[in-house]
Amino acid sequence: MSTILITGANKGLGLETARRLLADGHAVWVGARDGVRGEQAAAELGGRFVQLDVTDQASVQAAAAKVEAEDGSLDVLINNAGIAGERVAVPDTTVEQLRHVYETNVFGLVRVMQAFAPLLLRSPSPVVVNVSSGMGSLTVTTDPERLESSIVGLAYPSSKTAVNMLTSQYAKAYPQMRINAVDPGYTATDLNQHRGIKTVEEGAQAIVWAARLGPDGPSGGFFDADGAVPW
Ligand code: NAP
Repeated sequence: MSTILITGANKGLGLETARRLLADGHAVWVGARDGVRGEQAAAELGGRFVQLDVTDQASVQAAAAKVEAEDGSLDVLINNAGIAGERVAVPDTTVEQLRHVYETNVFGLVRVMQAFAPLLLRSPSPVVVNVSSGMGSLTVTTDPERLESSIVGLAYPSSKTAVNMLTSQYAKAYPQMRINAVDPGYTATDLNQHRGIKTVEEGAQAIVWAARLGPDGPSGGFFDADGAVPW
């Protein structure tokens, strides 16, 4: 039984991942920025709610203090919280629009990682899952055979490319942890107004797989439900 924290777990892929890992018998912290939505999701699933807004330093620190006070350590951190940002044509995209998306998808991940790394280091088998996207892959987004190549934007794709590099660098810095990026695939959630073609059950597959990795599992990689994804 592992102690697991999922950011943005009140809906979408985070909620489904929480459901699956609770069904495995793990102790899951349902992280959510909104108290009402988070409490509701945690109660529905049978997990524990922790208020956590990845863009708010005080909130992230308080969440780490709460997990430390109750459990003393953390085995698995799933950095799932993410936003798509506005759909804006590339030439019209402003620095502010990029910064807005990076605050959650990039800086939020670093903030959470910094706060929870000390707790992860107390686990005998620490695991970090960074929920990235095929949209962050230079190879996938330039392959005309892939749907991702037809979606053109600055903020979200580049934020997920940053998530990939953060994953690679964190994996080198923490060889005692299994730290991987995963691509759920184009999944029907609020993020894309439910236009995605996968169900949340299918999309959560890669996240759950990476969360279950043991000490012999890979680290510093990028995976989807079918295996390795090119960077
Ligand atoms: P979603 O249904 O919109 O869920 C996003 C979650 O992130 C929500 O719980 C949301 O909370 C939370 N969140 C947003 N900003 C936050 C913040 N500042 N602090 C804490 N939580 C915050 O979208 P999803 O599709 O499940 O997305 C989950 C992850 O998968 C994201 O990282 C996304 O980029 C990635 N992904 C999705 C797809 C796809 O096709 N759906 C494909 C590839 C990757 P609120 O309810 O409070 O807004």
